[in-house]
Amino acid sequence: MKLTQGQTYLAIPGPSVMPEAVLRAMHRAAPNIYEGELIDLTYGLLPDLKKVAGTAHDVAIYIGNGHSVWEAALANVIEPGDRVLVPVTGAFGHGWGEMAAGLGATCEVIDFGRRSPMDPAKIAKALADDTDHTIKAVLAVHVDTSTSTRNDIAALRAAMDATGHPALLMVDCIASLGCDRFEMDAWGVDVMIAASQKGLMVPPGVAFVFFNDKAAARRAEISRVSRYWDWVPRANPEAYYQLFCGTAPTHHLYGLRVALDMILEEGLEHVWQRHEVLAKAIWAACEAWGADGHLELNIAEEAHRSRAVTSLRIGKEHGTRLRRWCQDQAGITLGIGLGMATEDDPQSDGFFRFGHMGHVNAQMIMGLLATVQTGLIALDIPHGPGAIEAAARVIAEA
Ligand SMILES: *Cc1c(COP(=O)(O)O)cnc(C)c1O
Repeated sequence: MKLTQGQTYLAIPGPSVMPEAVLRAMHRAAPNIYEGELIDLTYGLLPDLKKVAGTAHDVAIYIGNGHSVWEAALANVIEPGDRVLVPVTGAFGHGWGEMAAGLGATCEVIDFGRRSPMDPAKIAKALADDTDHTIKAVLAVHVDTSTSTRNDIAALRAAMDATGHPALLMVDCIASLGCDRFEMDAWGVDVMIAASQKGLMVPPGVAFVFFNDKAAARRAEISRVSRYWDWVPRANPEAYYQLFCGTAPTHHLYGLRVALDMILEEGLEHVWQRHEVLAKAIWAACEAWGADGHLELNIAEEAHRSRAVTSLRIGKEHGTRLRRWCQDQAGITLGIGLGMATEDDPQSDGFFRFGHMGHVNAQMIMGLLATVQTGLIALDIPHGPGAIEAAARVIAEA
């Protein structure tokens, strides 16, 4: 007998669950890339992407994953030898910094550890000490998907402004866009990057760089930018092929059209609220489980937690055992513990993550939590009582 037959659920922090309507929109013959529907559809995506990002400025689209826009964004505003400041709250902060180093930048990492958000005052201090303004950008991650830390980007901007330092504020919203509140222009973000396969509910393969006039002015000073990464023709194309520097990601565009329609029809405020309620239900269950045993939310304070992904510690080896059980016995795949290795636990076996981004609703989250509860029982992993009741109360009261 197998209890995994039926609809499976990939509850990892990207690729996220995709709406049937998105998949159906992509299921079609190759469209004409010279004229007609696809061209109109693509130009129509740009204002809606900007709405979701909270910006009136520019967007460039790339065929690629999140790593591609880490590089694309840097390639337009950073030259070899430039200094960049990298506040780190998890593996993805390190990743973006390493990408900058690979392009020849001198990276100054300020590591805030794996359990707390960045402290804007420390970043401001580093900028204030740079009286010659040799630091060209601060590379911040809004939600670090490994630790599930959410950083306060508006507070970082305010702290940067108080120093009068001209460094660009560049923000990775790959995990958070379409899940956690983010407002690019209102928060004073100069460059923001995102990708299709998380809150935007489309398969991996398209990614975005949003940039404002200050970033565009910096781009204009750069002596040499790779033709492929250059955002100028992509954001202001004279011909359709320039939008993607080659063939368009045809089917992704159809999927993205439907996903953006769904987000805008629900309303961004409601999308953020839904993620908030579902995240709170998950945290309530985790706190109940944690009352007895080793299970513990990685981030203690609610304000500093992502609404898209939740990282947990559960004690050595239990993380991997629980993930295996949920996948092999119940049809739910949980996220691995990423970037949590210690000498004592080199494979991060004592960690796991819930992805709850994008196309998720109350029944999916309650099913997810009840399945984990079942796994805890089946594997005899110590845990406190009342988790499902606690999650149900959060959802019932919302
Ligand atoms: C997923 C993710 C990335 C990397 O995206 P890929 O598509 O895997 O290259 C970068 N930053 C954050 C915050 C992410 O969540």
